[in-house]
Amino acid sequence: MTLDLDLPRFRQLLTQACEHVLGLYDGLEARRITHASPPARIADRFAGPLPTSGRPPEEVLARDIPFIFEHSTLNISPRFFAYVMSGGTQVGILAELLGAALNVNSAKWHLASAGAEMERVVIRWLSEFIGYRADAGGALVSGGSEANLYCLRVARDVQAPESREEGCRTERPLSLYASAETHSCVMKSVEMLGIGSRYLRKIPVDSRFRVDVAKLEQQLLEDQRAGLRPFCIVGNAGTVNTGSVDDLDALADVAARQGLWFHVDGAYGAAAASVDLTRELFRGLQRADSIALDPHKWLQVPFEAGCALVRDWKSLRHAFGYDTPYLKARSDSAERWDWMGHTFQLSRSFRALKVWMQLQVYGSHALQSVIEGNVRLMQQLGEEISHARDFELMAPVPLSIACFRYVPAQGPALSDEALDLLNDRILEECERRGVFFLTGTKLSGRTALRACLVNHRTTEKETRGLLAHLRAIGEELVAAS
Ligand SMILES: *Cc1c(COP(=O)(O)O)cnc(C)c1O
Repeated sequence: MTLDLDLPRFRQLLTQACEHVLGLYDGLEARRITHASPPARIADRFAGPLPTSGRPPEEVLARDIPFIFEHSTLNISPRFFAYVMSGGTQVGILAELLGAALNVNSAKWHLASAGAEMERVVIRWLSEFIGYRADAGGALVSGGSEANLYCLRVARDVQAPESREEGCRTERPLSLYASAETHSCVMKSVEMLGIGSRYLRKIPVDSRFRVDVAKLEQQLLEDQRAGLRPFCIVGNAGTVNTGSVDDLDALADVAARQGLWFHVDGAYGAAAASVDLTRELFRGLQRADSIALDPHKWLQVPFEAGCALVRDWKSLRHAFGYDTPYLKARSDSAERWDWMGHTFQLSRSFRALKVWMQLQVYGSHALQSVIEGNVRLMQQLGEEISHARDFELMAPVPLSIACFRYVPAQGPALSDEALDLLNDRILEECERRGVFFLTGTKLSGRTALRACLVNHRTTEKETRGLLAHLRAIGEELVAAS
């Protein structure tokens, strides 16, 4: 029995699916971003038993897809400012469809061929895009988290080659150094690699949320004296909280002096190293031994697309290459690029296609314009906030994240605790209304409204609209209390 439908019916279904896509993008600007349904209502809709006989695909498309579209958060909207989420592109939709149609496994050259070669080119282009080495090694992975894990695995292997066989020894533990603003995936990676969370030394930041390099060096020396084995420094090229960029050059100096691996988490920010407006912030990035970046963030590639870059292909091959008899190499294998020998995954989707198509169709200049435009819009918003009587900017805006809070201009002055409460309620109310969406964070213990822009669809109309919307909510909440 085959699961295939006949071609005329398949064509009909493709058309039906396309209509859904077109419907989603038709009038996108006006659509709600969040929905009003409680979790139980959505869970109920999907609560049925395991289907045994199945249903016609036409019916699934007609009855279920609209519900799914309505009950998904619309991060493709130009009014979406939460987390670090790009809008994706129409070209990305096509690439996902075409890649799925082919269903190749990008594990090995003779399984993917075009895809295997394409991924190598994509690695080179991404490396070049951010001003890193043309001969860098790398791999496309699920996202920034996995990219950081890969890079730290390679770092551990290079710096402590015996750890591969022996595991991490406890008598002279490996330790690594990163700012307190570092993404949680670095901690997850450290735990997964068996290094132990206490050996990730979280170094305080300065008033601009950049790692305090002197304190980092001091901690490092103390640890050496105490018998630890420092092996890696992690620099941030755009933190998720505020977009701060560590002094990468200074970190590279410390790493060089101490003979340590220098890894940079550029999942969000490294793409901004490609544009004139912000390039200077990233001085020293090219000295990294490895870099994590995320094409599914500022490069607008649809989820999932992360990228781990390392200085040297050999280090990846050393970490992930194994001889397995059933995947035996052929005599001409030197020319046939073996991806499974450079990554943890064996079976791999055709991720390269959507990154490649994105770069083919738009070119680096258009993507750089998006990045530069996003930074300009958010820096402008930051300016506006710092001059407003009823908002307070809580961190500088080096890239495209603004952290601020609403502080009523009228009435008695509120305590920090009361402002935390008020701003938490503004966030909740904003999500409930569904017109704009942003999330919050804590900065020095205080609640901040955090707006992050990595979306090619957003214009000044939306950034101004966001502030007016938050102000209106703030005023209403204060009036009602
Ligand atoms: C987003 C982000 C990550 C995690 O990346 P995912 O793609 O979500 O796995 C790690 N570090 C930074 C700085 C990020 O912005």
